[in-house]
Amino acid sequence: MRLIYDLNLSDLSALMIEWGEPVYRAHQIWQGLYRQFWNFAEQFTNIPNSLRTRLAENLEFNALTLATTLNSSDGQTVKTLFKLQDGKSIEAVLMRYEKRNTLCISTQAGCAMGCVFCATGQMGFKRHLSSGEIVAQVMYYAHMLHGETNFVTNVVLMGMGEPFHNYDNMLAAIDRLNDPQGYNFGARRFTISTVGLVPAIRRFAAEKRQINLAISLHAADDALRTSMLPVNKRYPVDELLAACRKYIADTGRRISFEWALIYKVNDTREQAVILARKLKGMHCHVNIIPLNPTLGYSGRATTRERAEKFKQILDGYGIPCTIRLRRGIDIEAGCGQLASVI
Ligand code: SF4
Repeated sequence: MRLIYDLNLSDLSALMIEWGEPVYRAHQIWQGLYRQFWNFAEQFTNIPNSLRTRLAENLEFNALTLATTLNSSDGQTVKTLFKLQDGKSIEAVLMRYEKRNTLCISTQAGCAMGCVFCATGQMGFKRHLSSGEIVAQVMYYAHMLHGETNFVTNVVLMGMGEPFHNYDNMLAAIDRLNDPQGYNFGARRFTISTVGLVPAIRRFAAEKRQINLAISLHAADDALRTSMLPVNKRYPVDELLAACRKYIADTGRRISFEWALIYKVNDTREQAVILARKLKGMHCHVNIIPLNPTLGYSGRATTRERAEKFKQILDGYGIPCTIRLRRGIDIEAGCGQLASVI
């Protein structure tokens, strides 16, 4: 059965017309889904009982089945394992900060990119998620936080999968969540994180959207980057950075570069200098975060001291840089740790 979250408002309106219902019923259902966070047909008390029954018989509300939830020891991070309708698994993570609730969601079950330090990459690609399966992850947490009179403030597409490898479904999901008549989640509160699929970056630049873009860079020269991120063979560092410059020129928006610092691999003075020279003059920000451990990779996190030195070099070249806190490591909810096994 088709997922209700796979429909946008015009699909739902067309369905109402097909069923001989007035179009305003679509708006009532839309409000129920995205303003009230109702997630099964019987809850839609704003429509006639007969239409509720028809909805339940023809559309699937249950996109995700909760399999397991883990809370970090500090209670600030929640990792949820969901089963999809076909039995595949995905994970999503909620990170609570003082004034923010950031949600990290998946766009694919598994991932085809094979980044060596990433648990999702180590498990391989299973399939793309539909737009509705992406939307449903946000709705799950929106509903949960609504119960605490709280709300999601930011959504990062940084969970399982490469968002640009599932470009159309991923952006359709963002558009659905952004709909002012529904959930109305501002475009600027989304961040897409890509490993660097250059044609998709160019396509995204041409769309001139307000969504934030982050690039998982992790190494500044081709030899090292290819050894960590196989995609670099296809889209080498300089080609990737040229696409980033074009994106900045076309959109006027800043790019973030993500850098997982691995002890004596990419936390060296040499890498910092190459990186700083390549980013000089670019409207960008570098986020450095000590590597999160995974079973399939022997590299380990850098030390605080080496991270500080790395930052100082970037500072010296005038490159804005922040050392990020690692979150949820004890429940394997950190970047690169999502592998749909708990
Ligand atoms: S880091 Fe991202 S792109 Fe790379 S394998 Fe993991 S999920 Fe895929």
